Amino acid sequence: MASANSWLIHGASALLTGLPGVAARHAGPDIRIVDGRIQAMGLLPPRPGERQLDARGCVIYPAWINTHHHLFQSLLKGVPEGLGHNLGGWLAAVPQRYRGAFDAASFRLAVRIGLTELMRSGCATVADHHYLYYPDMPFDGAAILFEEAEQLGLRLVLCRGGATQVRPFDARVPPALQLESLDAYLADVQRLVGRYHQPAADAWRRVVMAPTSPPYSVSADGLRETARAARSLGIRLHSHLSETVDYLDELRERHGCSPVEFCAAHEWLGRDVWFAHLVKLLPEEIQLLGSTGTGIAHCPQSNARLGSGIADVVAMEAAGMGISLGVDGAASNEACDMLSETHAAWLMQRAKGGEAARPRYAGGKAEGGAQVCAVEDVVRWGTSGGAAVLGLNDLGSLEVGKAADIALYRLDDPRYFGLHDVALGPVLCAGRPTLRALLVGGRLVLENDRIPGLDLAELGAQAREAVISLQRKVGARR
Ligand code: ZN
Repeated sequence: MASANSWLIHGASALLTGLPGVAARHAGPDIRIVDGRIQAMGLLPPRPGERQLDARGCVIYPAWINTHHHLFQSLLKGVPEGLGHNLGGWLAAVPQRYRGAFDAASFRLAVRIGLTELMRSGCATVADHHYLYYPDMPFDGAAILFEEAEQLGLRLVLCRGGATQVRPFDARVPPALQLESLDAYLADVQRLVGRYHQPAADAWRRVVMAPTSPPYSVSADGLRETARAARSLGIRLHSHLSETVDYLDELRERHGCSPVEFCAAHEWLGRDVWFAHLVKLLPEEIQLLGSTGTGIAHCPQSNARLGSGIADVVAMEAAGMGISLGVDGAASNEACDMLSETHAAWLMQRAKGGEAARPRYAGGKAEGGAQVCAVEDVVRWGTSGGAAVLGLNDLGSLEVGKAADIALYRLDDPRYFGLHDVALGPVLCAGRPTLRALLVGGRLVLENDRIPGLDLAELGAQAREAVISLQRKVGARR
């Protein structure tokens, strides 16, 4: 099917490549794709019979790579009981309250909504931290996730979450909050790896060992066991860590160390590990994460929404960590798309830099934080940074030989009129430009904002019904 997979994208106004330094820009204006990969970039005359994609007036980026999500939460946006809470209260008021209300149909709908929103922001690869597991649950979420991603033509990394910490059995705990045994958890990860995991650098399906949150969801010994099992299976490790100050208190009280020291002691650092959040780190923890090449899924909007703080990703990158971006679940980030996320990351890192500014008489050296990160940096974090963190090294940049995962934005809204440097528009101006096209592995999966075969009005109607049904199930509505 080489001909169906061969394209000439021509006439782009500007390109960002996802690469660092001067390589962040490419003059284009054309990209040739053959058999799902970028074959050439530059001024390229069309070949006879070649399919063409008109990119005039468009800005081209590599497709985004979202490294932390909880897709089931796409039906839990703006739950009123959770709006005024920090992480701990919100967890109880929203995800834990609603998790048992999902069935196969509502879970599938939530996944479809979340993936559709991401796609329409130009995202092609999604790492879903799926922790909706309990003993004898009535549906296989992993199968649904992979089916929905395949249907839409996206790449999916299943981070198999779950809570396994050994506690005395308590019959008063609702079934959906019961814990799995560590053995059952590890056996399921092994099953999923055998069934879905592709080691290739341009994989469509990956599986990751991802107990929901050390130290809360897994025992200390169990944590080490998960690391060893993952490495023997050849898969990566992912979890939440240090989202709020509570992690520092919890680890000091229970283990007399910092959260990152705890992970180090249980073999949970390294280039095959990435953590979501890392908002509250001690300086020595950043050094330890950096020296081991551990990665982060930076989730600025969720961290702001829950009032947790702003992760110091600029310091993390300087220390040697891999930086990527994640939108986190829609229950704590009602703008679960990669353009909103990159825009927020860009603003908030600069604001954080400005927060550190001091007057010169008090030792201050800079007026503000505008120098700490550029739009090109956040684009790099959201593309090639994500590819590196996930170990999908053939994705994430516009370079000859890389997989053709490419987003074309048409800046046809007044929001983008008047720009002096259109390459920056999709991130700089916020909002969502028209998505001219999204290609994943050279396949055209979206054109002019439309996903073939997907009726958005119907999806919206299904969502409204599903929200009512979920509210009834938890007693929030009669
Ligand atoms: Zn999360």
